[in-house]
Amino acid sequence: MHTNVEKIFTFIDQESSFIEEQESATYLEGVIYALELWITDKKTPSITNPSKEQIRKAVQLAILKGMKQSAQVNHQMTPDAIGLLVAYLVKEMSKGKKELAILDPALGTGNLLYTIMNSLPTENHAFGVEIDDLLIQLAAQTGELLTCDIQLFRQDALKPLLIDPVDVVVSDLPVGYYPDSETSQDYFLHSEEEMSYAHHLFMEQSMKHVKPGGYLYFLVPESIFESKQAPKLHKFLKETGWIQAVIQLPSNIFKTKGQEKSLLIIQKKSETLKAPREVLLAKVPNMSNKEAMELFFKKIDIWQEENAK
Ligand code: SAM
Repeated sequence: MHTNVEKIFTFIDQESSFIEEQESATYLEGVIYALELWITDKKTPSITNPSKEQIRKAVQLAILKGMKQSAQVNHQMTPDAIGLLVAYLVKEMSKGKKELAILDPALGTGNLLYTIMNSLPTENHAFGVEIDDLLIQLAAQTGELLTCDIQLFRQDALKPLLIDPVDVVVSDLPVGYYPDSETSQDYFLHSEEEMSYAHHLFMEQSMKHVKPGGYLYFLVPESIFESKQAPKLHKFLKETGWIQAVIQLPSNIFKTKGQEKSLLIIQKKSETLKAPREVLLAKVPNMSNKEAMELFFKKIDIWQEENAK
Protein backbone atom coordinates (compact mmCIF):
# COMPACT_ATOMS: atom_id res chain seq x y z
CA MET A 1 0.00 0.00 0.00
CA HIS A 2 1.46 3.34 -1.03
CA THR A 3 0.90 6.39 1.12
CA ASN A 4 -0.55 9.62 -0.22
CA VAL A 5 2.90 11.24 -0.06
CA GLU A 6 4.38 8.43 -2.18
CA LYS A 7 1.53 8.57 -4.69
CA ILE A 8 1.76 12.36 -5.09
CA PHE A 9 5.56 12.23 -5.38
CA THR A 10 5.37 9.44 -8.01
CA PHE A 11 2.85 11.48 -10.02
CA ILE A 12 5.03 14.61 -10.00
CA ASP A 13 8.21 12.61 -10.60
CA GLN A 14 6.81 10.78 -13.64
CA GLU A 15 5.46 13.93 -15.26
CA SER A 16 8.64 15.91 -14.52
CA SER A 17 10.93 13.18 -15.86
CA PHE A 18 8.78 12.94 -19.00
CA ILE A 19 9.08 16.69 -19.67
CA GLU A 20 12.78 16.63 -18.84
CA GLU A 21 13.33 13.98 -21.54
CA GLN A 22 10.91 15.23 -24.19
CA GLU A 23 11.39 18.97 -23.98
CA SER A 24 15.05 19.18 -22.91
CA ALA A 25 13.82 21.12 -19.89
CA THR A 26 15.20 20.86 -16.36
CA TYR A 27 13.58 18.58 -13.81
CA LEU A 28 12.41 21.63 -11.80
CA GLU A 29 10.68 23.06 -14.89
CA GLY A 30 9.09 19.63 -15.20
CA VAL A 31 7.81 19.94 -11.61
CA ILE A 32 6.13 23.23 -12.58
CA TYR A 33 4.51 21.46 -15.54
CA ALA A 34 3.32 18.56 -13.35
CA LEU A 35 1.84 20.88 -10.71
CA GLU A 36 0.09 22.88 -13.45
CA LEU A 37 -1.53 19.67 -14.75
CA TRP A 38 -2.77 18.93 -11.24
CA ILE A 39 -4.04 22.48 -10.51
CA THR A 40 -5.94 22.67 -13.81
CA ASP A 41 -7.32 19.15 -13.26
CA LYS A 42 -5.91 17.93 -16.60
CA LYS A 43 -4.17 15.08 -14.83
CA THR A 44 -4.18 14.36 -11.10
CA PRO A 45 -2.55 11.89 -8.71
CA SER A 46 -4.96 9.13 -7.67
CA ILE A 47 -5.28 9.89 -3.99
CA THR A 48 -8.09 10.28 -1.49
CA ASN A 49 -8.35 13.19 0.94
CA PRO A 50 -4.70 14.21 1.11
CA SER A 51 -3.83 16.42 4.07
CA LYS A 52 -2.04 19.73 3.51
CA GLU A 53 1.10 18.32 5.09
CA GLN A 54 1.03 15.28 2.76
CA ILE A 55 0.84 17.59 -0.27
CA ARG A 56 3.60 19.86 1.07
CA LYS A 57 5.92 16.94 1.83
CA ALA A 58 5.46 15.28 -1.55
CA VAL A 59 6.01 18.52 -3.48
CA GLN A 60 9.04 19.19 -1.28
CA LEU A 61 10.54 15.77 -2.17
CA ALA A 62 10.16 16.48 -5.89
CA ILE A 63 11.70 19.97 -5.56
CA LEU A 64 14.59 18.56 -3.53
CA LYS A 65 15.25 16.02 -6.26
CA GLY A 66 15.29 18.85 -8.83
CA MET A 67 17.53 21.05 -6.68
CA LYS A 68 20.12 18.28 -6.39
CA GLN A 69 20.51 18.49 -10.18
CA SER A 70 20.47 22.29 -10.28
CA ALA A 71 23.65 24.35 -10.25
CA GLN A 72 21.92 27.52 -8.99
CA VAL A 73 23.32 28.59 -5.62
CA ASN A 74 20.09 30.25 -4.49
CA HIS A 75 18.15 27.01 -5.04
CA GLN A 76 18.19 26.09 -1.38
CA MET A 77 15.14 24.90 0.49
CA THR A 78 14.82 25.23 4.25
CA PRO A 79 15.09 21.66 5.61
CA ASP A 80 12.01 20.20 7.30
CA ALA A 81 13.83 19.69 10.59
CA ILE A 82 14.27 23.47 10.85
CA GLY A 83 10.82 24.31 9.45
CA LEU A 84 9.07 22.12 12.02
CA LEU A 85 11.07 23.64 14.89
CA VAL A 86 10.29 27.22 13.78
CA ALA A 87 6.63 26.22 13.30
CA TYR A 88 6.51 24.92 16.89
CA LEU A 89 7.91 28.19 18.23
CA VAL A 90 5.62 30.41 16.12
CA LYS A 91 2.64 28.35 17.28
CA GLU A 92 3.63 28.53 20.97
CA MET A 93 4.45 32.24 20.88
CA SER A 94 1.28 33.27 19.07
CA LYS A 95 -1.14 31.40 21.34
CA GLY A 96 -4.27 33.41 21.99
CA LYS A 97 -4.05 35.30 18.70
CA LYS A 98 -7.17 34.83 16.60
CA GLU A 99 -5.60 35.70 13.29
CA LEU A 100 -2.04 36.06 12.07
CA ALA A 101 -0.51 37.93 9.15
CA ILE A 102 2.87 36.45 8.24
CA LEU A 103 5.60 37.67 5.88
CA ASP A 104 8.53 35.76 4.41
CA PRO A 105 10.67 38.27 2.45
CA ALA A 106 12.96 35.49 1.10
CA LEU A 107 10.24 32.99 0.26
CA GLY A 108 12.18 30.59 -1.99
CA THR A 109 9.94 27.59 -2.67
CA GLY A 110 7.72 28.55 0.27
CA ASN A 111 8.57 25.35 2.13
CA LEU A 112 9.40 27.12 5.41
CA LEU A 113 6.36 29.40 5.28
CA TYR A 114 3.93 26.60 4.34
CA THR A 115 5.27 24.35 7.12
CA ILE A 116 4.41 27.13 9.55
CA MET A 117 1.02 27.93 8.01
CA ASN A 118 0.05 24.23 8.02
CA SER A 119 0.89 23.96 11.72
CA LEU A 120 -1.11 26.96 12.92
CA PRO A 121 -4.59 26.28 14.28
CA THR A 122 -5.68 29.87 13.68
CA GLU A 123 -6.72 31.70 10.55
CA ASN A 124 -3.68 33.12 8.84
CA HIS A 125 -2.77 34.94 5.72
CA ALA A 126 0.67 35.50 4.32
CA PHE A 127 2.87 37.53 2.03
CA GLY A 128 5.90 36.12 0.25
CA VAL A 129 8.64 37.96 -1.64
CA GLU A 130 11.11 36.19 -3.90
CA ILE A 131 13.42 37.40 -6.65
CA ASP A 132 13.84 34.11 -8.52
CA ASP A 133 11.26 33.40 -11.22
CA LEU A 134 11.31 29.63 -11.02
CA LEU A 135 11.19 29.49 -7.22
CA ILE A 136 8.27 31.88 -6.97
CA GLN A 137 6.35 29.84 -9.54
CA LEU A 138 6.88 26.72 -7.45
CA ALA A 139 5.81 28.64 -4.33
CA ALA A 140 2.68 29.96 -6.08
CA GLN A 141 1.63 26.51 -7.28
CA THR A 142 2.26 24.87 -3.91
CA GLY A 143 0.27 27.63 -2.20
CA GLU A 144 -2.61 27.00 -4.58
CA LEU A 145 -2.61 23.24 -3.94
CA LEU A 146 -2.55 23.92 -0.19
CA THR A 147 -5.35 26.50 -0.57
CA CYS A 148 -3.22 28.99 1.39
CA ASP A 149 -4.28 32.60 1.65
CA ILE A 150 -1.06 34.10 0.30
CA GLN A 151 -0.05 37.10 -1.79
CA LEU A 152 3.21 36.83 -3.71
CA PHE A 153 5.61 39.51 -4.94
CA ARG A 154 8.33 38.71 -7.47
CA GLN A 155 10.84 41.44 -6.75
CA ASP A 156 13.98 42.38 -4.88
CA ALA A 157 12.75 42.36 -1.28
CA LEU A 158 15.14 45.15 -0.36
CA LYS A 159 13.40 47.58 -2.70
CA PRO A 160 10.22 49.23 -1.31
CA LEU A 161 7.50 46.68 -0.48
CA LEU A 162 3.78 47.32 -0.80
CA ILE A 163 2.95 45.24 2.26
CA ASP A 164 1.23 46.47 5.42
CA PRO A 165 2.90 45.61 8.75
CA VAL A 166 2.36 41.97 9.75
CA ASP A 167 2.25 40.12 13.10
CA VAL A 168 5.08 37.73 12.29
CA VAL A 169 8.06 37.65 9.94
CA VAL A 170 9.77 34.30 9.29
CA SER A 171 12.73 33.99 7.01
CA ASP A 172 15.67 31.80 6.12
CA LEU A 173 17.74 34.79 5.08
CA PRO A 174 19.98 34.87 1.99
CA VAL A 175 23.50 35.20 3.34
CA GLY A 176 26.26 37.24 1.74
CA TYR A 177 26.93 40.60 0.14
CA TYR A 178 24.14 42.65 -1.43
CA PRO A 179 25.40 43.97 -4.79
CA ASP A 180 23.03 46.97 -5.24
CA SER A 181 24.94 49.69 -3.39
CA GLU A 182 22.45 52.39 -4.43
CA THR A 183 19.52 50.60 -2.75
CA SER A 184 21.58 49.69 0.31
CA GLN A 185 22.24 53.41 0.93
CA ASP A 186 18.63 53.70 2.15
CA TYR A 187 19.36 51.35 5.04
CA PHE A 188 20.81 52.21 8.44
CA LEU A 189 22.63 48.86 8.25
CA HIS A 190 24.54 49.61 5.05
CA SER A 191 28.30 49.46 5.31
CA GLU A 192 30.56 52.40 4.48
CA GLU A 193 33.69 50.27 4.18
CA GLU A 194 32.57 47.36 2.02
CA MET A 195 29.49 45.91 0.33
CA SER A 196 26.61 45.58 2.78
CA TYR A 197 25.43 42.23 4.09
CA ALA A 198 22.15 41.19 2.50
CA HIS A 199 21.10 39.32 5.65
CA HIS A 200 21.52 42.49 7.75
CA LEU A 201 19.50 44.60 5.27
CA PHE A 202 16.78 41.92 5.22
CA MET A 203 16.51 42.20 9.00
CA GLU A 204 16.07 45.96 8.80
CA GLN A 205 13.50 45.68 6.01
CA SER A 206 11.59 43.03 8.02
CA MET A 207 11.59 45.21 11.14
CA LYS A 208 9.97 47.94 9.07
CA HIS A 209 7.20 45.58 7.98
CA VAL A 210 6.25 44.13 11.37
CA LYS A 211 3.82 45.66 13.86
CA PRO A 212 5.09 46.92 17.25
CA GLY A 213 5.10 43.87 19.55
CA GLY A 214 5.28 41.54 16.53
CA TYR A 215 7.84 38.75 16.28
CA LEU A 216 10.61 38.08 13.78
CA TYR A 217 12.11 34.62 13.34
CA PHE A 218 15.32 34.66 11.33
CA LEU A 219 17.61 31.83 10.30
CA VAL A 220 21.00 33.52 10.34
CA PRO A 221 24.66 32.46 10.14
CA GLU A 222 25.80 31.11 13.50
CA SER A 223 28.58 33.72 13.60
CA ILE A 224 26.31 36.70 12.83
CA PHE A 225 27.42 38.68 15.89
CA GLU A 226 31.11 38.15 15.20
CA SER A 227 31.49 39.80 11.78
CA LYS A 228 33.02 43.19 10.98
CA GLN A 229 29.54 44.63 10.35
CA ALA A 230 28.12 43.19 13.60
CA PRO A 231 28.49 46.28 15.88
CA LYS A 232 26.03 48.27 13.74
CA LEU A 233 23.61 45.34 13.74
CA HIS A 234 23.83 45.17 17.53
CA LYS A 235 23.04 48.87 17.77
CA PHE A 236 20.09 48.56 15.38
CA LEU A 237 18.60 45.59 17.23
CA LYS A 238 19.03 47.28 20.61
CA GLU A 239 17.20 50.37 19.42
CA THR A 240 14.34 48.75 17.55
CA GLY A 241 13.70 45.37 19.15
CA TRP A 242 14.14 42.97 22.03
CA ILE A 243 16.14 39.83 21.38
CA GLN A 244 13.97 37.01 22.72
CA ALA A 245 16.04 33.97 21.85
CA VAL A 246 19.17 32.76 20.12
CA ILE A 247 18.90 29.07 19.33
CA GLN A 248 21.86 27.25 17.85
CA LEU A 249 20.81 24.54 15.39
CA PRO A 250 22.54 21.14 15.22
CA SER A 251 25.44 21.20 12.76
CA ASN A 252 24.52 17.83 11.19
CA ILE A 253 21.49 19.47 9.48
CA PHE A 254 23.82 21.54 7.32
CA LYS A 255 25.64 20.11 4.33
CA THR A 256 29.00 21.76 4.83
CA LYS A 257 30.99 23.25 7.68
CA GLY A 258 30.70 27.02 7.83
CA GLN A 259 27.03 26.92 6.74
CA GLU A 260 25.69 26.35 10.26
CA LYS A 261 22.78 28.56 11.26
CA SER A 262 21.04 29.78 14.37
CA LEU A 263 17.47 30.83 14.90
CA LEU A 264 17.24 34.39 16.12
CA ILE A 265 13.90 35.49 17.60
CA ILE A 266 13.29 39.21 18.00
CA GLN A 267 10.28 41.16 19.16
CA LYS A 268 9.76 44.64 17.75
CA LYS A 269 9.67 47.15 20.60
CA SER A 270 6.29 48.44 21.65
CA GLU A 271 5.39 51.16 24.15
CA THR A 272 2.68 48.99 25.66
CA LEU A 273 4.92 45.94 26.27
CA LYS A 274 7.90 45.13 28.45
CA ALA A 275 11.24 43.62 27.43
CA PRO A 276 11.45 39.84 27.97
CA ARG A 277 12.48 38.73 31.47
CA GLU A 278 15.00 36.30 30.11
CA VAL A 279 16.67 35.84 26.74
CA LEU A 280 16.65 32.18 25.79
CA LEU A 281 20.11 30.96 24.80
CA ALA A 282 19.82 27.35 23.78
CA LYS A 283 21.35 24.69 21.58
CA VAL A 284 19.11 22.20 19.80
CA PRO A 285 20.35 18.67 20.54
CA ASN A 286 20.78 16.00 17.89
CA MET A 287 17.24 15.79 16.53
CA SER A 288 17.24 11.99 16.33
CA ASN A 289 17.71 11.83 20.13
CA LYS A 290 14.06 11.72 21.26
CA GLU A 291 14.73 12.17 25.00
CA ALA A 292 17.05 15.12 24.47
CA MET A 293 14.49 16.73 22.16
CA GLU A 294 11.72 16.28 24.73
CA LEU A 295 13.90 18.01 27.33
CA PHE A 296 14.64 20.81 24.86
CA PHE A 297 10.93 21.42 24.18
CA LYS A 298 10.27 21.40 27.96
CA LYS A 299 12.93 24.08 28.39
CA ILE A 300 11.25 26.16 25.65
CA ASP A 301 7.82 25.74 27.26
CA ILE A 302 9.10 26.84 30.69
CA TRP A 303 10.87 29.87 29.20
CA GLN A 304 7.75 30.76 27.22
CA GLU A 305 5.49 30.49 30.31
CA GLU A 306 7.84 32.66 32.39
CA ASN A 307 8.06 35.27 29.64
CA ALA A 308 4.29 35.40 29.18
CA LYS A 309 3.72 36.30 32.88
N1 SAM B 1 12.76 29.37 3.06
C1 SAM B 1 13.01 29.09 1.65
C2 SAM B 1 12.43 27.72 1.28
O1 SAM B 1 11.97 26.99 2.18
O2 SAM B 1 12.48 27.38 0.09
C3 SAM B 1 14.47 29.15 1.32
C4 SAM B 1 15.04 30.54 1.37
S1 SAM B 1 16.66 30.63 0.68
C5 SAM B 1 17.70 30.27 2.01
C6 SAM B 1 16.85 32.37 0.44
C7 SAM B 1 16.04 32.91 -0.72
O3 SAM B 1 16.21 34.33 -0.82
C8 SAM B 1 16.43 32.34 -2.08
O4 SAM B 1 15.30 31.72 -2.65
C9 SAM B 1 16.84 33.56 -2.91
O5 SAM B 1 16.46 33.49 -4.27
C10 SAM B 1 16.09 34.69 -2.19
N2 SAM B 1 16.67 36.03 -2.36
C11 SAM B 1 17.99 36.37 -2.36
N3 SAM B 1 18.13 37.70 -2.52
C12 SAM B 1 16.88 38.22 -2.63
C13 SAM B 1 16.35 39.54 -2.79
N4 SAM B 1 17.17 40.59 -2.85
N5 SAM B 1 15.02 39.70 -2.83
C14 SAM B 1 14.17 38.63 -2.73
N6 SAM B 1 14.61 37.35 -2.57
C15 SAM B 1 15.94 37.15 -2.52
